[in-house]
Amino acid sequence: MVANRGAESTTSSSTRGVLSSRPRRCSRTSLPYGRNSGVGGDGYGGPVTTTEPARARASQPESRLALVRRARRTNRELAVTYPDAHCELDFTSPLELLVATVLSAQTTDKRVNLTTPALFARYPDAAAYAGADREELEELLRPTGFFRAKAQSVIGIGQALVERFDGEVPGRLEDLVTLPGVGRKTANVVLGNAFGVPGLTVDTHFGRLVRRLGWTTEEDPVKVEQVVGGLVERSEWTMLSHRLIFHGRRVCFARKPACGACTIARWCPSFGVGEVDPVKAAKLVKTS
Ligand code: SF4
Repeated sequence: MVANRGAESTTSSSTRGVLSSRPRRCSRTSLPYGRNSGVGGDGYGGPVTTTEPARARASQPESRLALVRRARRTNRELAVTYPDAHCELDFTSPLELLVATVLSAQTTDKRVNLTTPALFARYPDAAAYAGADREELEELLRPTGFFRAKAQSVIGIGQALVERFDGEVPGRLEDLVTLPGVGRKTANVVLGNAFGVPGLTVDTHFGRLVRRLGWTTEEDPVKVEQVVGGLVERSEWTMLSHRLIFHGRRVCFARKPACGACTIARWCPSFGVGEVDPVKAAKLVKTS
């Protein structure tokens, strides 16, 4: 998701300073995958040199303190690797971010970003969604898949916002999750990117990475959120989410991760589950 036009939105005083009047585009085209240079010749710099990946030390029990330190070091390295990590949905308001995030289920952010300009122009506020013609809305949402269910959610969100929140997206987790089709993941996207409230976005990439990194073995997103929230500074939660999602989309793929081109390999006990040859791994890395 992204800080731009897209994902979740709201307009209140608390959003000032987070949102700008210009459409923000979460999906910037170039990946600042920027350390070292040379491997692959595509701007991707390759992994931090590591002679002893965490996997080699995995047989030794790790203390709680060591785990916290490793998680925070990993986050700092990801910050160097992805200095421009951001929400990859386009949005200009909390409402746009909320709607875009709901639409992003089971599809790509790029697909959502192709759909939302016309959608946001046609439905500028919660009241417009509340009174939308269902068939017309479904046609607009068709390219994102599951368009009937998504239209239902968006109309329901519009109605709930008008009826219970004066047409504004609320800035509290406990209120956001009462909206149709809005769970903790979507709520945290809105809070983190439209309201500046730190939140962990436990999507499929986030969950896969923190398990590979050995931060947790939990599968339940709520439990993952609780565990990771206890490892990394609260102020880092939103950016950590962006960084892990960036890394999951570009390097640590579900199938065949590019371990040999991974900048956080030295802190990863799963090093070796994917391609370890640096040259072959660099060719797997996605740069946009
Ligand atoms: S790419 Fe490999 S080394 Fe890097 S985080 Fe993923 S599993 Fe670990």
